[in-house]
Amino acid sequence: MHIAVIGRGLIGSAAARHLAKAGVEVTLIGPDEPTDRAAHRGVFASHYDEGRITRGLDPWPFWSRVSRASISRYAEIASESGIDFFTEVGSLMAGPETSRPMQQLQAVRDRDGIDCQTYRDADLAAAFPYFAFPPGTIALHEPRRAGHISPRRLVLAQGIAAERAGARILRTEATGIDEVSPGVRIATGLGEVCADRVLVAAGGFSNLLLNNALDLAVYARTVALLRISPAEARRLSPQPSLIYLHPNGEDPYLLPPIPYPDGQYYLKMGGDPVDLPLRGEEIGDWFRSDGSTEVAAALEQMLRARMPGVALEARQTMPCVTSYAPENIATIRSLSQRVSVAVAGCGRGAKCSDELGRLGAEVVQGHALPAWALEAAVV
Ligand SMILES: Cc1cc2nc3c(=O)[nH]c(=O)nc-3n(C[C@H](O)[C@H](O)[C@H](O)COP(=O)(O)OP(=O)(O)OC[C@H]3O[C@@H](n4cnc5c(N)ncnc54)[C@H](O)[C@@H]3O)c2cc1C
Repeated sequence: MHIAVIGRGLIGSAAARHLAKAGVEVTLIGPDEPTDRAAHRGVFASHYDEGRITRGLDPWPFWSRVSRASISRYAEIASESGIDFFTEVGSLMAGPETSRPMQQLQAVRDRDGIDCQTYRDADLAAAFPYFAFPPGTIALHEPRRAGHISPRRLVLAQGIAAERAGARILRTEATGIDEVSPGVRIATGLGEVCADRVLVAAGGFSNLLLNNALDLAVYARTVALLRISPAEARRLSPQPSLIYLHPNGEDPYLLPPIPYPDGQYYLKMGGDPVDLPLRGEEIGDWFRSDGSTEVAAALEQMLRARMPGVALEARQTMPCVTSYAPENIATIRSLSQRVSVAVAGCGRGAKCSDELGRLGAEVVQGHALPAWALEAAVV
């Protein structure tokens, strides 16, 4: 069987690796990252960055499970590709002790036996002296198998591993999908690709290829990158990734010092207070912009409140988008006998993209998913 995967991002390149390793003939279709974002007229991706938080804990059992499955294969992907992408600095999830999200998080921890330590008040302040938390905060710390990944390097690693397992890569955009008996015809910038089946994993751009067949909400996101000196980065080097879960559902997150391609270290803060929906052409327009200055200023303020002693040198903003399905789990299913999709990272699809890609590879081959992969329920 010949399967085409459209979307050379986190989920698509993972699917291609799994399909190729299963002995399937695979063509992975997708463009490289544009060199000039503001002038680029084609599609974009949500992985053009150096930091994504990774952790086994999540208030949602589905996300916890796919994350832990993926994290358990990070070493395999690194060894198959020769590319490292994981920094194991640990992860901290914190919030008011009595809040629903923190209770759900503890229920998932207990149900699945996730290895983490609990901190409160003086213990919390002593263990993580660079953070300030309000009284009544409880924090769950995962010291191992957690921290952050470079999404750019993970995509690179998956692509190399997929190619080594026999996948062919076509560095171009797909512009149309035609179901023809007995397969699919995909129009691309480099000519037509004929395959038996196709898996669409084109992130926020998926509906543009599928005539809006998916119930997918694409939201604008702004991140603030706060530059710090190399000395400050050294001082903060034990810092884990942090997510603060507010009772109202907001969940601002903070990544520890990470070196960026310009040679500088940045702390990254994200967590838009409002969901700004994007449709059609608006998605590309958002990626060409620098995001929202107001959101970035609010994020910087949040960071300064969380880390009162930090010495920040400058701020940059970066645009991105997240795709959500109504059930708040990934959309991995067949649309027809020949067309399947693996989309909707729901703002957390980077760390767990290897498992989401594996599930996509199962579906496009016509295999049924296990019940847990369709389970949207909270514990
Ligand atoms: C600001 C921000 C912070 C985030 N933080 C985290 C985090 O800390 N931890 C975490 O786990 N997740 C995080 N996420 C979520 C994560 O980045 C996404 O869930 C993930 O990128 C989704 O992967 P994907 O493969 O679906 O999409 P993408 O990574 O966007 O890949 C889609 C690919 O499809 C390609 N494509 C699109 N259209 C076409 C076409 N027509 N033809 C061919 N190719 C096409 C694109 O070029 C792209 O390469 C964050 C997201 C954002 C925006």
